[in-house]
Amino acid sequence: MDKIVSLSRRRGFVFQSSEIYGGQGGCWDYGPLGVQLKNNIKQAWWQSIIQERDDVVGVDSSILMNPRVWEASGHVTGFSDPMCDCLKCKMRWRPEDFEGTVCPSCGGELTAPRQFNLMFKTFMGPVEDTAAVVYLRPETAQGIFVNFENVLNTTRKKLPFGIAQIGKSFRNEITTGNFIFRSREFEQMELEYFVKPGTDEYWHDHWLQTRLDWYASLGMNPANLRLRAHCDSELAHYAKACSDIQYLFPMGWSELEGIANRCDFDLKQHSEHSGKKLEYFDEETKEHITPYVIEPSAGVDRSVLAFLIDAYTEEPDKDEIRSVLKLHPRLAPFKAAVLPLSKKEPLANLSKEVYASLRKAWMVTYDDAQSIGRRYRRQDEIGTPYCITVDFDSLNDNQVTIRERDSMTQVRIPIAEIKAYLFPRLKG
Ligand code: ATP
Repeated sequence: MDKIVSLSRRRGFVFQSSEIYGGQGGCWDYGPLGVQLKNNIKQAWWQSIIQERDDVVGVDSSILMNPRVWEASGHVTGFSDPMCDCLKCKMRWRPEDFEGTVCPSCGGELTAPRQFNLMFKTFMGPVEDTAAVVYLRPETAQGIFVNFENVLNTTRKKLPFGIAQIGKSFRNEITTGNFIFRSREFEQMELEYFVKPGTDEYWHDHWLQTRLDWYASLGMNPANLRLRAHCDSELAHYAKACSDIQYLFPMGWSELEGIANRCDFDLKQHSEHSGKKLEYFDEETKEHITPYVIEPSAGVDRSVLAFLIDAYTEEPDKDEIRSVLKLHPRLAPFKAAVLPLSKKEPLANLSKEVYASLRKAWMVTYDDAQSIGRRYRRQDEIGTPYCITVDFDSLNDNQVTIRERDSMTQVRIPIAEIKAYLFPRLKG
């Protein structure tokens, strides 16, 4: 993990939030490369969940919602974690994060656990009274449930169908840590997939497999992924089943995504609290039913971390160690780097022409500083799959050398064919 944290900072993937002021606990900023990686992960999720399916549509709901949403969903009364205080050093702990009965930091005596609500509160409007309290959403899912009828009426979808969204969520976590694994502000990619009761177990299995396959399709080593089914005592009272997709992070197997069968709990709760019936008319049976819902809920930041860890490789290369981020081409921040052998004209001119034409299609970078070997290393370390070297022969033969990141093999091809060469390879 230390290597990933250091690489992320050094190369501009992730910075501490508000660093010049000493940081802000549990909050992170994504740098120029991090935001590209993160966007590429979100784009790949959106493509597989919405673009390539007929049965799922997207929404983007607001972060601040009517506080009654959170009463109906159970978050106001039930979204809490047990917390112990250390009487000596005043640190706060979640009992599930450590073994033993004393403070893991100083060995001091701990108070008995008490429940701590994880929702951030703020005020809407100029008056700071309780009537104006609103919450920063702790999950994106409720923005989907409250739009169930709007989406049904405007899209005329038939069961089974899903509504998905990507967005920020906020939790006042008692303990954060393991870099971007658990933070107080994070992003989720959530799908609520509505099904006829009775078909829910089939669809739960479908989504477990589909989501596992998605991580593997983007190059994650399947040996580092596993499913963990929740036992009865862990299940929320309304959930019929839940399994986590876990990744083998450096601190051990930990949750990357949760996939729950939430039955009809959410739609029924919102129907009861809003007075608006959130139902579906089944044409076959001519009955109004409340669909069951399967919820694959993934963390964007945890995916960023898992993809970085999985891709990071150190290989012996001559007398040195080569650090390579073997990111899937679809996720790599830059798809290619244009490297002129000389900074001077006329090579610079030709190189810039190549660069300008490629960047219309992809995120491409340009690097003309230091030796070509060092430039290859820099691109390897940030995961750029292809380096395009423009040399003095290029001026005569209109060809360039393309070097592939993982195999380090090189081919020489005409400049006019670069796009056709890269296109199938970058789709992966
Ligand atoms: P954990 O117990 O590991 O904090 P959770 O079970 O509370 O997670 P869910 O409520 O199931 O998480 O949220 C769905 C997904 O959202 C998680 O699988 C995770 O990827 C992401 N997520 C939840 N909380 C956080 C957080 N504090 N920081 C980063 N990602 C989070």
